[in-house]
Amino acid sequence: MNVLVINAGSSSLKYQLYNMKTEDVLAKGRVERIGMDSSILTHEVEHQPEVREVSEILEHTTAIKKVLDMLTHRKFGVLRNIQDIQAVGHRVVHGGESFSQSVLVDQEVKLEIRKLFDLAPLHNPAHMMGIVAVETNLPDVPQAVVFDTAFHQSMPPSSYLYAIPTVLYRKHKIRRYGFHGTSHDYVSKRAAEFLGRPLEELKIVTCHIGNGASCAAIMHGKSYDTSMGMTPLEGLMMGTRSGDLDPAVVPFTINKEDLTLNEVNSMLNKHSGLLAISGISSDMREVVEAMGEGNEKARLAFEMYAYRIRKYIGSYIAAMDGVDAIVFTAGVGENSDALRKEVCKGLTFFGVYLDGQRNAVRSQEPRRITTDDSRVSVLVVPTNEELLIARDTFKLVQNRSEKKSE
Ligand code: AMP
Repeated sequence: MNVLVINAGSSSLKYQLYNMKTEDVLAKGRVERIGMDSSILTHEVEHQPEVREVSEILEHTTAIKKVLDMLTHRKFGVLRNIQDIQAVGHRVVHGGESFSQSVLVDQEVKLEIRKLFDLAPLHNPAHMMGIVAVETNLPDVPQAVVFDTAFHQSMPPSSYLYAIPTVLYRKHKIRRYGFHGTSHDYVSKRAAEFLGRPLEELKIVTCHIGNGASCAAIMHGKSYDTSMGMTPLEGLMMGTRSGDLDPAVVPFTINKEDLTLNEVNSMLNKHSGLLAISGISSDMREVVEAMGEGNEKARLAFEMYAYRIRKYIGSYIAAMDGVDAIVFTAGVGENSDALRKEVCKGLTFFGVYLDGQRNAVRSQEPRRITTDDSRVSVLVVPTNEELLIARDTFKLVQNRSEKKSE
């Protein structure tokens, strides 16, 4: 079975086509600048030169049509015809309290996702455009949705409730949801496999440190707490997001700077974090480079960023009353040995001892970066959210076919 994985944004759309027998990626790519002039489709097939096509793509239905044309293209394609796509899986950021696992798309599911537009106004409407666009182009192909929030639905109320009047939770579902669930789920499972121990016995802190960043406390295979909140703004300091701050900063800034609520929202989401403190970039590579050249603002940004990760790790060890493994993943977590070293240097009290040489190794495979006598294992586990979406989609479609044939 071939599964097409779609991650639809408001003006962009990423895709990966999987052969589920081998779990190989047959092709991947992205459409950018949807709805603007000169949209760009970039298409990649292993061992072949990248294809770039510039055209006018005004909305998602046309974007999907272009992707399907490319996948079946005489020269650049990998499929004979579009019937060779047996299922489509979508990444959906917000599943609210309605979804604690991936599901096949039907009218009811679409209605629920629409109800959640309020909670993720930048993401869910775009995902819905992706779902409708696939429906239009491939009306007979089953679609599944995989939610960033679903894995964290196992959190207890003491983790997910905010200490504000409960009427706000009852009326508007204001609470912690957490994000990057697909990644936390995937890397915790891979970590247990790597350690050769059942996931149900382990206490793991996973650190998904990319452009967006979050930590999760995973107790016996289930999310117990996570740093992102009702939206992906809470928690760690990120590329351009502030992470945790005193909520009183918002009204205070509005008054002092004569800003609107939207302007402050935009400041906290787009102009804060690494970018604001370093004054250089939201990209950790550039911050580390500037730090190496003696830039003090870059050093401060780097130290703040690491310090907050360390604080979350410490608090999750306390929350779970112990830890067996700490896992780093995503762009920064997988690639920056400097960041991992800075985070772990304050964890020796817990029995975490990094091995400098192991930390410096680069690999696409899971690996341990602590010494053999370190009480807690620190692992680097490359994430693969697309593969998990493809697997969930495959499983759901297979289960449905089995039920039908019973
Ligand atoms: P992601 O959101 O997981 O794709 O991560 C993207 C981020 O990873 C980029 O913004 C970079 O800051 C970071 N990154 C990628 N490679 C490196 C590296 N070698 N060193 C430090 N940061 C990196």
